[in-house]
Amino acid sequence: MVSESCGNPSVEVEAIMSRRPKYDKSKICIKCKVNNGAIVVRHAVYCKECFPALLSSKVKRILEPQINPKPDLSRKKSLKASGNLLVGFSGGLGSTTLLDLISRIYLSNRMEIKEEGIAKPRGGKGHPRNEPVWKKVTVCYVEIAAGFSGMTDRTETIQQLVQEKFEALDFIPLRLENAFDPTWWDRVGGKPTSDMNADLINDDLFVSTVFDSPTSEPVQRLRSYISALPTHTAIDSTIHTLIRILLLYTARSTRSSHLLLGTSLTSLSINLISSISQGGGFSVREEAQEEWRSDSMETVRLIRPLQEITMKECSMWAWWNNLRVVGKQRHPGVKQGIGALTKDFIVGLERDYPSTVSTIARTCAKLAPRVGASGSCILCERPLQPGVQEWESRISIRATAPSSPSHSSDSFSLLQSLTPYLCYSCHATLMSRSSKGVSGNITNTSLPLPVWASARLHISPSDAAICVQLDVKEADDEIWLARKVDPNEMKAAIGEFLLV
Ligand SMILES: [Zn+2]
Ligand SMILES: [Zn+2]
Repeated sequence: MVSESCGNPSVEVEAIMSRRPKYDKSKICIKCKVNNGAIVVRHAVYCKECFPALLSSKVKRILEPQINPKPDLSRKKSLKASGNLLVGFSGGLGSTTLLDLISRIYLSNRMEIKEEGIAKPRGGKGHPRNEPVWKKVTVCYVEIAAGFSGMTDRTETIQQLVQEKFEALDFIPLRLENAFDPTWWDRVGGKPTSDMNADLINDDLFVSTVFDSPTSEPVQRLRSYISALPTHTAIDSTIHTLIRILLLYTARSTRSSHLLLGTSLTSLSINLISSISQGGGFSVREEAQEEWRSDSMETVRLIRPLQEITMKECSMWAWWNNLRVVGKQRHPGVKQGIGALTKDFIVGLERDYPSTVSTIARTCAKLAPRVGASGSCILCERPLQPGVQEWESRISIRATAPSSPSHSSDSFSLLQSLTPYLCYSCHATLMSRSSKGVSGNITNTSLPLPVWASARLHISPSDAAICVQLDVKEADDEIWLARKVDPNEMKAAIGEFLLV
């Protein structure tokens, strides 16, 4: 077991870290000091009666300072969100626990109103505590089955489960292919756009508009997106990103001020390490909490209220409360990515040295980028680090790939590069080829863009004309146009400088 040791135990015997006893001092609950303990949480013992209070206080500590529009650390004011609530539900242990805890802490009053027709005032009539924190609560599930062959659609099972247990809540089923679906985009209030593809053949990722292609069905575009990704790690992180953004736009369209996800402390630590290892260091804060704003609309606050609760605590909660955990759906190949490797490592670490897992999250919470963001990434909508391209061009050796056959040298076209709009992590996700790639040689190099990305790039033909004119004006006497050249044409232009 790798995580049981530090240093090299085969050479240095002293390097083995001694295990601490499972619990400190006694088996009696540290809270009530009466009952026998039933669960050990990071060496502290709790009884079954005190455990709910422990979880509830952890959820409140994370969530409540962020409920009122102005973050309020003192929590003396009454809680009133500026909009509705959207809870992301995957069927997994974390989101099942989250939905149950949130409904017990904040929504039980609301459920009573529905069941009995009358409200049961707590703390006197008209007391602000009787006002619901959020006016409307919606649960949202994203089905990923269509992206892969051989997966079953679980939307109905999930919908039944949620509606049986939480009948007062609304349920919105989404699908991963909605990310490529103009009708869905229109439904959530997105700006009109047209299908666009990016060419993965070289680092510039030139974008072209697709007209009436037979493969423009959302499911086809999703599958084509996944098949263009170079590694299992890229597929895994892309699915995470697509789900997150589908939920954010749904939050916006349901007028939600908050989006809650059931990321436990264990999952957060896994996400942090795996995201940093994939070049996502600039947005390390966003892994824990995000303020997302699109256009001039209201800000959506993405919060992970279970971020101080370990997976073990979630399991105990689900077990003691008879919660049905359907399980998160796993797509094929997920076990081969960086995410799965990190998970094995962190879960082993949590089992053997429980305190170290919270240290990862706490240490990352102290990290902050040195410079401010220059806008947001067009794919993942997380902060964009300024100057990445210059830095990358200084440190990397690039291979020039031949231009794709679709652009012959005589068809002159104005090409737009996607790269300046991407964060380092997204660009690396798309371009990092690996010897252990998904299928060896990737034949598909045309990457369909999700609707939110093409909407930001989309320029109608009349706007395009204005754009070019402006460019010409701004450049004064020099006119710069980017176009793709054929290898022979390039060779002819630089031939005299070549040594071979
Ligand atoms: Zn107790
Ligand atoms: Zn990005």
